[in-house]
Amino acid sequence: MTGSTASFPKARRLRFGLLLGSCHFSSGTEQFTKNFLLLTMTGKTIFKKIIDREIPANIFYEDELCLAFHDIMPQAPVHFLVIPKKEIASTNDIADEDAALIGHLFCVIRKLAADQGVAESGYRVVANCGPDACQSVPHLHYHVIGGRAMTWPPG
Ligand code: 5GP
Repeated sequence: MTGSTASFPKARRLRFGLLLGSCHFSSGTEQFTKNFLLLTMTGKTIFKKIIDREIPANIFYEDELCLAFHDIMPQAPVHFLVIPKKEIASTNDIADEDAALIGHLFCVIRKLAADQGVAESGYRVVANCGPDACQSVPHLHYHVIGGRAMTWPPG
């Protein structure tokens, strides 16, 4: 059994899909369906496939611990994702031993936000966790969104 399949046993994959079925996606339903089918059939999330270079992505930063790439459905002029190479399904699955890794991800976010020109204007860092938050890919990821004024609270 591969590491990714071990992380997402079949029962958990199905439960994840069923819970997400109640989530309203204003866009990207097709993308979500594709991602869900991929996970159900292969046990690998779309992000694990990007890490393994099995599918293409616009990766613009990589180090030994993480990757950053542009979101396929950007919600703002700047919208990229920072993901750990370690398979962690969501914020709920972060272990105490991951503290340094999570700190590293935020240091990378700080550097990349500056590189992308939004450090001064501002940006939002979002980690959707679970069905109420409409998390669609069960691999921990931080959205970094900027380049336009945003509203609060989020929908
Ligand atoms: P979530 O809804 O889980 O918080 O965010 C998942 C994000 O991943 C979404 O913004 C979605 O557009 C993005 N995404 C899903 N599949 C792909 C893909 O294959 N490539 C890239 N670059 N982004 C993806």
